[in-house]
Amino acid sequence: MNRAKFLALLIFICLPLYVQAAGKGYTSAGGAPADRHFHPKGKPPSKHTLEVLKQAKATLPFSDKRDFEEEKKGFIAAPDFWQVKGEGGNIVWDMERYKFFLEGKEFASIHPSLQRQSTLNMNYGLYEVIPGFYQVRGFDLTNITFIKGKTGWIVFDPLTAPETARAAKELVDKHLGKFPVVGVVYSHSHVDHWGGVRGIVEEADVKAGKVQIIAPRDFMAFAISENVYAGNAMNRRVMYQYGVLLPANPYGHAGQGLAQNVANGSTGLIQPTRIIEKDIEVLTVDGIEMEFLNTPFTEAPSEMHTWFPESKVFWSAENVTGTFHNIYTLRGALVRDPLAWSKYINESLYRYGKDAEVMIASHHWPRWGNDRIQEVLRGQRDLYCNINNQVLHLANLGVTINQIHNVYKTPKSIANQWYNRGYHGSPEHNSRAVINRYLGYWDGNPATLIPLSPADSAPLYVEMMGGSDKIIAKGKELHDAGKYLEAQEILNKLVQAEPQNREAKDLLADVFEQIGYQQENPGIRNSFLQGAFELRDGIPAGSPPNTAGPDVVRAMTTELFLDFVGIRMDSRKAEGMEFTINLITPDNGEKFVIELSNATLTNIEGFLSDDPDLTVTINRSDLLQVMMGAKTMATQIADGVAKVEGDTSVIEQLASILAVFTPNFEMLPGTRQDGGEIELNPYEVGPVQLQGE
Ligand SMILES: [Zn+2]
Repeated sequence: MNRAKFLALLIFICLPLYVQAAGKGYTSAGGAPADRHFHPKGKPPSKHTLEVLKQAKATLPFSDKRDFEEEKKGFIAAPDFWQVKGEGGNIVWDMERYKFFLEGKEFASIHPSLQRQSTLNMNYGLYEVIPGFYQVRGFDLTNITFIKGKTGWIVFDPLTAPETARAAKELVDKHLGKFPVVGVVYSHSHVDHWGGVRGIVEEADVKAGKVQIIAPRDFMAFAISENVYAGNAMNRRVMYQYGVLLPANPYGHAGQGLAQNVANGSTGLIQPTRIIEKDIEVLTVDGIEMEFLNTPFTEAPSEMHTWFPESKVFWSAENVTGTFHNIYTLRGALVRDPLAWSKYINESLYRYGKDAEVMIASHHWPRWGNDRIQEVLRGQRDLYCNINNQVLHLANLGVTINQIHNVYKTPKSIANQWYNRGYHGSPEHNSRAVINRYLGYWDGNPATLIPLSPADSAPLYVEMMGGSDKIIAKGKELHDAGKYLEAQEILNKLVQAEPQNREAKDLLADVFEQIGYQQENPGIRNSFLQGAFELRDGIPAGSPPNTAGPDVVRAMTTELFLDFVGIRMDSRKAEGMEFTINLITPDNGEKFVIELSNATLTNIEGFLSDDPDLTVTINRSDLLQVMMGAKTMATQIADGVAKVEGDTSVIEQLASILAVFTPNFEMLPGTRQDGGEIELNPYEVGPVQLQGE
């Protein structure tokens, strides 16, 4: 469809309902709504959705405007650009896309609470927290914090991409004078807190001892491992949670809650020079005294808080921000421990909270004044503790993982604080996570213990419901009545049974779209809108890049790599294969036995087999080429880089059964390449490397 026809259709579809929306006290999506609607089949919010959002608006504490004061306080300067570009001219960061939040309008297709948060997240530029403490905000998903030492800067959390980190440093140089970076602190293991380090630090200076890099206990293991085993599945799911393929507009991507989005640059990693091993350690760097408190298995498995006794500043890393964070992240990850999380907030409250004058974090804006800090710390402590305790309370009364999100309610006094609203986690998906953590996925009903797969059960439902026409008719009725969850229930069955039923898919997409508009949580919103998008047009053709950069692969242990080879190996093709390989990497003194037996690949470090089929001796630095996919093991052997003894055919056998994963599998049936004509710009395909939050 050409652009003019596309626009004409949009105007035809959308205009009548815009009038209706305006009548409800909302305005449409800015000056040219049709221009911003991203899909020809896209619908504006229905009257039912408008009513839901109106109710939300009436019950939320909009009179509390403290966040807006805190967000603005200490503003020094904004940059004179809205985009940060990479060396090749690619757009790494784009605030331009979110300028619609500055139009002072209420968008009928965005939950008022999410719109409020995304408007706050338009804070963009350099801010003074107190003299000596500065933050650049709005340059990435994360804030970058600069603390002035005697001779230079100590930088907390250098963003996701070197490009954005460099741009932030240049803004600091311009307004505060040019000083070297003498220390870097990675507050935790998620990539948006370290991936940009090469933008502000030269590795040679780190090696020469001019720059210290400080990180919490077990940082390296978790920075790398969290994303490897299920990495491809996470990449695909990131498209849902982060809506990376959705255009930014009131009908699509409307901010990510923690910030507007993630930078899409050349993520790198310089290894820390100083790990905080003890629970609490005090360090002085460039004249700045810092007390570090390890907070393992909270927002990240490796994370720490920092207390600055001289200035009475408390850095809460990502454990206390302006949102209810994820206990379970929709991209997929191990479920987090909200009780441990709450306890470390409590420890910080009692250890530092009584003296703190300012609280800063890696997302959102600071809190000033001891009363406010204590309020936020207590509120967040109770938020995470409440969901843990009350969900388990309900579970002990028999509420299951399939009911809890409809039963658990955050107490009003907690929910009425803006900083406890679900812009990343939500009471719904986090409550299910708590049950999942303690009891697992099974609800205890034998009928759900070994259920049919959806594609196998759905045809029976469709048959018993009287076929497609009846379901579509009822689906339309439910849709028109605003009963979207009910409509989804039956239409999903039909789509599962008849993946090529265009009418069913379009109707389910319409239902998903309305559910999406109604969400306060951007991850849930994006998931429904992305689902609608794929039902209408299929999975977009351009597959996102695999962005594990060389730094990250280099930091991967050989054991982790071998584990992943075991995951890539298709066990179904390995029946009857059997071999043992000794792998020796002399430059780092490691050795492994790799065994293929029972169609399963195992490895063990520190041992060698007495009777291997093959022994491979290769330096770890050369193995890296294989790990990055730049060379195959066969090539390394042929080139003499790897020395071998024994039967090299086992390498070929193994290679022949390794799958290459690509993040374009179907999330919804019948969506694989069914004729979409979506053009993606590189930014839209963007930040799939982020699996951090
Ligand atoms: Zn973060």
